[in-house]
Amino acid sequence: MANGNSNVDLKQVFGENVFNDEVMRERLPKNVYKALRKTMDEGVPLDPAVADVVANAMKDWAIEKGATHYTHWFQPMTGITAEKHESFLNTVSEGKAITEFSGKALIKGEPDASSFPSGGIRSTFEARGYTVWDATSYAFLKEDEGGLTLCIPTAFCSYTGEALDKKTPLLRSMEAVSKQALRVLRLFGNTTAKRVFATVGAEQEYFLIDKDLYLKRKDLFFTGRTLFGARPPKGQELEDHYFGSLKDRIANFMRDLDYELWKMGIPVKTKHNEVAPAQHEIAPIYENVNIATDHNQVIMDTLKRVANRHNLACLLHEKPFAGVNGSGKHNNWSLSTNEGQNLLDPGKTPHENAQFLIFLCAVIKAVDEYAEILRASAANAGNDHRLGANEAPPAIVSMYLGDQLTEILENIEKGNGTEKKEREYLRVGVNTLPPLPKDASDRNRTSPFAFTGNKFEFRMVPSSASIATPNIVLNTAVAEVLSEIADRLEKAKDFNEEVNNIIKEIYKNHKRIIFNGDGYSEDWVKEAERRGLKNINNTVDALCALISDKSIKLFAKHGVFTEVELRARYEIKLEEYIKHINVEARTMIDMVKKEIVPAVIKEITDVANSISAFKNVVKEIEPTTQIELIKDLQNNLNELNKETLELEKELEKVHQFNGTLYEKACLFRDVIVERMKKVRVYADRLEMIVDEDRWPFPSYDKLMFYI
Ligand code: ADP
Ligand code: MG
Repeated sequence: MANGNSNVDLKQVFGENVFNDEVMRERLPKNVYKALRKTMDEGVPLDPAVADVVANAMKDWAIEKGATHYTHWFQPMTGITAEKHESFLNTVSEGKAITEFSGKALIKGEPDASSFPSGGIRSTFEARGYTVWDATSYAFLKEDEGGLTLCIPTAFCSYTGEALDKKTPLLRSMEAVSKQALRVLRLFGNTTAKRVFATVGAEQEYFLIDKDLYLKRKDLFFTGRTLFGARPPKGQELEDHYFGSLKDRIANFMRDLDYELWKMGIPVKTKHNEVAPAQHEIAPIYENVNIATDHNQVIMDTLKRVANRHNLACLLHEKPFAGVNGSGKHNNWSLSTNEGQNLLDPGKTPHENAQFLIFLCAVIKAVDEYAEILRASAANAGNDHRLGANEAPPAIVSMYLGDQLTEILENIEKGNGTEKKEREYLRVGVNTLPPLPKDASDRNRTSPFAFTGNKFEFRMVPSSASIATPNIVLNTAVAEVLSEIADRLEKAKDFNEEVNNIIKEIYKNHKRIIFNGDGYSEDWVKEAERRGLKNINNTVDALCALISDKSIKLFAKHGVFTEVELRARYEIKLEEYIKHINVEARTMIDMVKKEIVPAVIKEITDVANSISAFKNVVKEIEPTTQIELIKDLQNNLNELNKETLELEKELEKVHQFNGTLYEKACLFRDVIVERMKKVRVYADRLEMIVDEDRWPFPSYDKLMFYI
């Protein structure tokens, strides 16, 4: 099993279970290898004749490694991955098994996928979807208690070609940004780059708690977060967990996790304790966004699996515990040519720096212009507890550039290009442009979108969600601005002059998005409002941006989403929100009625018995403590019961409601979520006064500190 890893040879282990370049080169005929490589590097379509050869080599390799099954591994709109395992067994001849895996089976699969959310797309066209091999992401072997399975990264579409997954539009958005970035690069004289990749390194936060304790909490089990829980005496105020030394049990888990991920070729590099007690982080080295997205899905899956093996439960929810930090996913994003030039890395020469500033400005404009769609891409019910809740990033999209870069852009904006005053200011594309700060490292942790020297870090992304959607939006929005820039530069008479004008204009028109101060402060909320920046603090409102005219136009123009696909996604997200809140409300009612109320009644009976027993023995002292306690218990119990009945009634009403999906989601947000908060108040008060041995589920202190 995987954990016999006392002496790991990292070089040997890494990619051991991946059908990677080395294996391909070794096992494929030269011409087949070359054709496949071209598909992977340049995105050219794969010749079906090549696929047969690849499939066979893949099968032989997988079987030699001990695999018996393969699966088209895909990412439907549930946000998690889906797999249906098929054995390599093809026919049986005279009692003997014959294994086969054809190019056809590799390239295309047809899962009976009618139970995946499609937002109405499939019912209108075809009941079934089909899966297509994404040859740009390596196939790998996944190892679990069921053995080894060959996983083939796959896109999932309807028969009429609509995307039913997260991968298809991501690939389309990569195509869009590559195309437009290349146009700009050519204008700057780059004739050799063949493709531009969006690169992403996603830092994943998570909580680890003891599994026995986890199983005693229905709320964690069903909803991923605690719906109740009185504040423990200690939270994160001492800041003694962040980067603290790892406890043995956690260190053991992490080592096992690293090993599992390395085997699957996932370059995880960093691991540490995070701010909240029981919170941790894992981060891989960045890769192209398609691979990074696949790998992040595998990381989430493996976190849960390995935790289980260590009798731990891994919580990926954005806010498992009230009162301490929640979890996010820091999406580090940049653009890089296939030759390895990072386009967001300030260069050494004025010419390189002019190019850098153009790409930087493209991101500035994209984030300002499409802020609401970006915000929508980070929306889910869990993140509503995080964004704007005085931790992690605020719900307002703004950008941190740092003082030095901001000053440079300020100076460029001020230069009017005529009088002698101009010499005091910067001009781009000529020799007066000084070296740009290389290490403008980000010391501002409160910004949702921060420039960190050679990449941007988008910090709003929810910890439990796929990183596909935020990157689809980023790629497409930046592609759009780059296309506008390319249009202008292609027509320009004086190239340097036009570069200068574009930077000036973009900075002038979009500098409202730049904010280098404290994103958590009240002042910023007011200032942002003055600047006209939106503060959208809930999922239902945030999602509207997906189907705005601006969004429909943007995604259609770059061939990333059709209007039908966008509307489908909007509906799926609204439904997902409703379902989440509904499960939370039902779990809450269940726990109150079946666990909390009976426990409190027993407590009251005990105290009542104690009072009468005491009075029988001692006459001259009143048992005032018990009397106060029993009144307190009964009062809170009455309130708890009243609020729970209200919640039940409202939930019933919302289910009867006959309006649009949007209106229904609003009711869940405004009525159900608010009612749930009231129920929690009384339950948490009771937890503070009931005998702790009697409380029906483990308390916050045990969950967060007993490991
Ligand atoms: P911090 O925790 O300070 O934000 P880390 O070094 O832990 O920083 O994480 C930064 C992440 O950014 C890593 O995953 C790293 O690989 C990634 N990264 C670095 N350079 C790039 C780049 N050019 N494009 C995308 N991601 C990058
Ligand atoms: Mg970070």
